[in-house]
Amino acid sequence: MKVSTLLSLLPTAALAHDLLSVAFFAKEKTQLLDFVSDNEHIDYGCRPVVIPSNNEHKLHAMLTEEQVHHYRRSLDAGAIRVETLDHLNKRQTATAPIGKGDRFKGGKVAPRGLGNQKPDVYGSYQRAGILNADEVYTALKGLEKEYGLELFKAPYKTFEGNTVWGGVANKAEKIKKGKQHIYFTSGIHARERGGPDNLIYFISDLLYANKHRKGLTYGNKTYTNSDVKKALGAGIVFIPMTNPDGVRHDQANSNLWRKNRNPASSVSGINASVGVDLNRNFDFLWNFTKHFDPSVSPASTNSSSQAFYGTAPFSEPETRNMKWVYDIFPKIRWFIDVHSAAGTLLYSWGDDINQSNDPKQSQFNPAYDGKRGVVNDTLYREYIEEEDWYNIELQANRTTAAMVSVGGRTYVPQQAVGLYPTSGASDDWASSRWYGDKKLNKVHGYTLEFGYPTNFYPTAEEYVQNIIDTNAGFMEFILTADEIGLKDERNE
Ligand SMILES: [Zn+2]
Repeated sequence: MKVSTLLSLLPTAALAHDLLSVAFFAKEKTQLLDFVSDNEHIDYGCRPVVIPSNNEHKLHAMLTEEQVHHYRRSLDAGAIRVETLDHLNKRQTATAPIGKGDRFKGGKVAPRGLGNQKPDVYGSYQRAGILNADEVYTALKGLEKEYGLELFKAPYKTFEGNTVWGGVANKAEKIKKGKQHIYFTSGIHARERGGPDNLIYFISDLLYANKHRKGLTYGNKTYTNSDVKKALGAGIVFIPMTNPDGVRHDQANSNLWRKNRNPASSVSGINASVGVDLNRNFDFLWNFTKHFDPSVSPASTNSSSQAFYGTAPFSEPETRNMKWVYDIFPKIRWFIDVHSAAGTLLYSWGDDINQSNDPKQSQFNPAYDGKRGVVNDTLYREYIEEEDWYNIELQANRTTAAMVSVGGRTYVPQQAVGLYPTSGASDDWASSRWYGDKKLNKVHGYTLEFGYPTNFYPTAEEYVQNIIDTNAGFMEFILTADEIGLKDERNE
C-alpha cells in the first residue's frame, strides 16, 4: 500500500494538542522532495520548505502520534529519519493565551508597540496574550483616534458577514492615491497566531515614534527618528487580518484552522471540508492541473484538503479584497504577506526555479502547460528579469540579516519554490501582475514566515519575540525598498 493512501485514512482535522511538530532529515534535498511527492497529505505548514541543518536538510511537518510511529517503522533506515522536536512540545501546555476582553476599550486606547519600551514591559504583553479578533479592530480604531490613522473598509464581506479593515500610514496622514508604495497583509492562514499582532504593533511603533520624535529599538537593532520618517514617507497600506472568519474559528476552537469558512464546497458533517485555502486562490497558475507537471500538487482540488484552491481564481471575498487594494493604491511596489511558522523570507517565484535567459519559459506561455513545478529538472524554469531577481534577493538578504541581528533567532532568505511548488499564492500573484500586463505597476511580492517551524501557536515568550523580530524586519524591508526604489521608473 502506498504511504499516501494509508495517510488519507487518518483524521485530517486533528486538534492542536494531538499534533506533534516533527522534522524529517535527509542528506540530499532530492530525497525529501521525493518524500513530499509521495506524501502530499501531511501538514507541512504553509508549504513544504527545506532548511539546511548541519550536513543535512530538514523538512518540518505536523504529525499525529500514529503517523510518527508509522514513519518510524516505514522509512528506510538511514535515508530519511523523523524526529519530534522536543523544544516545541512545550507549546502544548504553554501556548500564549488569546486575550480576553478589549485592552483598547472600543478604540479609546491606542496600542503601544514594543520598539519604544524597555524589555521589562514584555511580561505584561506575554500575560495579556494574542489579540482576539475584536481587538484587531479596536486597535485600529485606537490608532485612528490617537494619531489620525486613515482606516478603510474593504468592499467584500466574508461568508460570515465580517468586514475586513485596513489602514494607511503616511507622513501626510491623509490618503493620497499614488503615494503608497508598501503593502503588508496578515492573518490569511487563520491558525498562524500573532500575525495580525505583528502588524498592529509595528504601525503603532511608527506612529508613536513619529509623534514623539523618537527612534525604535528591537533587541540589538536600532532605528533613528529619521528612519521612522522615511518609513512613513514610503506610504504603508496594511490589512492586519485578511481572514477574520478563519481567525475567529481558530481562536474559538484551537483546531489549527487554516482556511476561510466558506461552506460552498463542503461535504455534510465534515468540518475539514469547509473553507478555501485563500493562499491557493489567487490568479497565479491557479488551474494547477493544467499548468503543472502531473507529478506535483501545488494545491488541491479536494475541499477537505488544507490546500483546497476554491472554485475559481479569486472566488473568495477575502482574496478579492486583497486584490482590490492594488486597484485603489496603484503605486504599490513592495508587498509582504505575513505567515508563520518557519523562520524564512520567501521571494518569487513559487512555481519553479528562477531563470533570466529565456523569456518564453513563462507562466503565461501555454506551450509549457503540464511541464511546470519539477524543481530538479531543466525542462521548465520560470522567467524573471535579471534586475528584478537581483533586487528581490538583495531585499530578502537585508531584511533577514536585520531580523537575525535583533539577537533572537535565525531567519533564512529563500526562493519561494524551495523544495516544492505552489500555485495561487498571494506573493506570486502580486509579482506576476506586471509580467502579465506591462501597464500595471511592478510589484515585488514576499511571504514572511515568522516563528519556529510548524509552531502555529507560539508560547508567550515566542509571541513577544516574534513581534520584535518581525518589526525589525518590516522596518528594514521598507528602508531597503526606499533605497532600491519605491517607484517604477519605466512607468512614471
Ligand atoms: Zn501560512
